[in-house]
Amino acid sequence: MALVQRLISSDKYSIKCPYSMTPKGICIHNTANDATASNEISYMQSNTNSVSFHIAIDDVEAIQGIPFNRNAWHAGDGSTGDGNRNYISVEICYSKSGGTKFINAEKRAAKEVAALLKQYGWGIAQIRKHQDFSGKYCPHRTLDMGWQRFLNMIQDELDILNPPTTELYRVRKTWEDSSSQIGAFSNLQNAKDCADANPGYSVFNSSGVKIYPVSNIVVGSKVKVIGNNYATGEVIPDWVKQGTYTVSQIVDNKALLKEITSWVYLKDLVLA
Ligand SMILES: [Zn+2]
Repeated sequence: MALVQRLISSDKYSIKCPYSMTPKGICIHNTANDATASNEISYMQSNTNSVSFHIAIDDVEAIQGIPFNRNAWHAGDGSTGDGNRNYISVEICYSKSGGTKFINAEKRAAKEVAALLKQYGWGIAQIRKHQDFSGKYCPHRTLDMGWQRFLNMIQDELDILNPPTTELYRVRKTWEDSSSQIGAFSNLQNAKDCADANPGYSVFNSSGVKIYPVSNIVVGSKVKVIGNNYATGEVIPDWVKQGTYTVSQIVDNKALLKEITSWVYLKDLVLA
């Protein structure tokens, strides 16, 4: 989504954007006019009124006319007003007559505003309407059609730009053997419990990395037994826990201990 830059010349700063600004949100307007974004920007930049805005958006393009580090006179809340001094202003075109052109301008505005939110690390909590600052019924047509509806449009666009990153822990025999999957959990402990209850299964993250059980025990490692049961389920006698053993083979989550010729789960072994 390209924001066309047609920034005002600095000799107009004193009229249109006299103050430096660190923006803290975005203020939405409707133009109450039927002009294109290009014409709105040209008119704003060429007249000598203390009226200005950062961006105008119609159904085909979005144009920035004032830098985001300068204020604009759009919110009707005076020379020290929060809206006029701290908010990036967005004018949505074609609101006078409405219709398809306005519908499409609003859609484009939702995309542009979402892109700005992402750029600044903001959410829809940082969006205001002109009405919030001065009471003026603006953005009039957007309000008529439903303010929350418009916020939802922006949120939907933002979700596309920032997809939710919920990790899913999958329990499988191997990552490659997806048909062996017996569960997928957003809670890691639940995934571990599932793997523990199903010998031969491991937990993999969304990237396919095996994250449980993980062990620094390899073939040749000297180990001690800390668990209570062999992989067969038989109870491990106490005298076995006194000894030190050599791992001769590892298959999935089990190790074969050479001296006692027994399979033990890796989770029941520690390095000696
Ligand atoms: Zn307005």
